[in-house]
Order: sequence, then C-alpha cells, then structure tokens
Amino acid sequence: MIVVYQEQLILLCMKMIEDILTKKDLTRQDLILLLQAKGDDRRKLFERSSQVKKEVVGNKAYFRGLIEFSNICSKDCLYCGIRKSNEKVFRYEATDEEILEACDFAYRNRFASVVLQSGELSSPAFTKRVASLLKQIKKLSDNGLGITLSCGEQTRETYALWRESGAHRYLLRIESSDPGLYYKIHPQDERHSFEKRLEALSLLRETGYQVGTGVMIGLPFQTMESLVNDLVFFKEQDIDMCGMGPYIEHEDTPLYKYRGELMPKQERFDLTLNMIASLRLLMPDINMVAATALQAIDPAGREKALAVGANVIMPNLTPCEYRKEYQLYEDKPCLDEDAELCRNCLEARVELAGSEIGYGEWGDSKHYFTRMGL
Ligand code: SAH
Repeated sequence: MIVVYQEQLILLCMKMIEDILTKKDLTRQDLILLLQAKGDDRRKLFERSSQVKKEVVGNKAYFRGLIEFSNICSKDCLYCGIRKSNEKVFRYEATDEEILEACDFAYRNRFASVVLQSGELSSPAFTKRVASLLKQIKKLSDNGLGITLSCGEQTRETYALWRESGAHRYLLRIESSDPGLYYKIHPQDERHSFEKRLEALSLLRETGYQVGTGVMIGLPFQTMESLVNDLVFFKEQDIDMCGMGPYIEHEDTPLYKYRGELMPKQERFDLTLNMIASLRLLMPDINMVAATALQAIDPAGREKALAVGANVIMPNLTPCEYRKEYQLYEDKPCLDEDAELCRNCLEARVELAGSEIGYGEWGDSKHYFTRMGL
C-alpha cells in the first residue's frame, strides 16, 4: 500500500513540474518547487529553460571583456576578499594605458563589449577618471565597443555623467533582496545601507542605463524563501540583466567563520543553475551572465550555465599582474591566463556547450528595448 502511495506521489510531482513549466505566470510556490527540482524534474526544467532561451533571446553567447581596473574599495562587505579592512591585499589601480590596451584587445578580437569593474570609490577624482576612460574607449573603438560599468553606488550626477560619457549598461548586484540577510553580510552602517543600494538601482534606471543586478547563492543564513524572494524582486524591479553566482568563502573575511554551516560547494553550484533556469522562465527576455564564480567550483561551470539559460560570458582581460590582487573569493579561476589564452579557452568551451559566440555584436538586453518601447 505504502509503495503504491509513494509512486502516486512521484507521479503527482512530475505532473506538477510539467504544469509549472508551461505556465505563463509563476507563483512563489512554483518557484520554490523549481529551485528544489532534482533528477528528472531538474532535467525537464533545464530542457525548458534552454528552449525558452533559444526562442526568446537566441542561442548566441555574447562576450563582455572584463577589466578589473582597481581593487581600491571604501566598503567592508563581510564576504568580499578585497574589502577595505583586508590588509593582505596589495591595492592597485591599472593605468589608462593598460586599460586602453585591454579594450583594444577586446575590439580587435571582436568581443564588442567590455565591462569596467572596480572597488567602490566616490571621490571627484575617480568620477572624472572613469568619465575620461569611457570617452577614450569610445574613441579608440570608433564607438564600436559597448561599455558596461560595475563601480558600485554613486550619485545621480555621477551615473548621468558616465552615461553621457559612453557607458550604456551598469551592473549593481543587490547581493540579497532580503534586508535582514543583507545586514548579516554587510556591516550595519551608513556606508552599507540597503536602502541606498536600492535607490542606486532606481537612479541607474532613471539615468537611462540597461540595469543589471543579482545575488550570491549559498550565503550563510540564506533560505529557499529568500532566494524565491530574490527572483520575485528581479521581476518587480523589471531588470534588464542579471548576474548570479555561488557564494564562495574567502579566508580573510568575517563570514569565513561560518564556513562549516554552508551547504557543500556542489550544492551551491547546482542551486545556482536552478536559479538561472528559473529566472529564464520568469523573465525570458533579459540578459543573464554565466558568472565566473561558477568556474571556481566546476571547471565547466560557465558553460553549464549557458546551457540552462545564461547568454553572456565575461572573459577576463585584467592585466595578469593584477589578477591575484582581485580575489573576491577562493579559487578564482584564470589567475595566470593572459587575454589571448582566455579567449581561445572560452571559445572552445562555449562551442562545447552548444552555443555560438556573438562576435562583433553588442547583444544588448532585449528586455530593455521592450520596456523602452523601442
Ligand atoms: N564594487 C562593485 C563591484 C563588486 S565585485 C559593486 O559594488 O558592485 C562584483 C561582485 O562580486 C559583487 O557584487 C559580489 O556579488 C561578488 N562577490 C564578492 N565576494 C564574493 C564571494 N566571496 N563569493 C562570490 N561572489 C562574491
């Protein structure tokens, strides 16, 4: 009797997943089931998310050459290896020449876009420097390179200046959309205000950027409900792009003491893929990055993310000498690969994952054009 009952239950669950996968509007309850999908259910989820990706945004993976141009940071995020208080890190700022050379490499190799990322600074000198770099990048590429910025929270004026100077996309992860969890992974002070981060996302939208946000997955104290709320948050914020990656502990950070309480790395990895696939169903036309942190757990991590719904990948173009000083987390990959090697390696991997590279194409977020009525 009991055996029959279990079989019926399994059949019911399978039916449920199939129903969910064809629904137009996903509820929180549906999302919980998707995030927890395992075995055959998980395979069905991935089949569907891959199909939706191909139908809605196509099968291409777009390159964004990542230049981590400075690790100087005024923040003290409790998870991050380059937090202000980590005195073991040698602080650097790449020169304009180094940054422009990396951009030139991207342009010549038809990457079409670059991402300038740094720690968070808000001095007038930093604001001016970034604006000047943006103009120089546009000039060297004859307007050919698309530019994404990832330089943290700034004022409306700064965002507007950078937008006018040539950046058209901005990444600012909310890290967690749950204020309670947010304050467990950040110091509780003015400099790390949840409200301000949220406000920054609105400012980015108002100043005309394609706006990207995201969260870390597998953080200490994080629950399934919290991750479902993150997905709902993305939808409510009507974001254009998303970057989600597994949280990976770093020895020289305060959160390291909770390492014994984390889910195993492989589970964080699996859950990240379920998050990516679920978000592809919830917001079919956004751009989603296959985060580098996935590769710190599984050498083919980014390719697996492309296969289940991601469509953007960020080859690292940071000058090699600086890479070991931009270790946000343990086991960050490609520490010693130069840009050329990185490109060759990614190309092979992307093709292995069944995607094609969108060389020479910006591959902007389709969602952005729809919401702008373009
Ligand atoms: N200063 C910028 C860029 C931050 S670094 C900003 O504030 O947006 C880029 C991302 O790395 C962060 O948003 C965070 O989500 C991720 N990150 C930092 N530490 C990490 C860790 N230990 N594990 C996984 N991802 C991490």
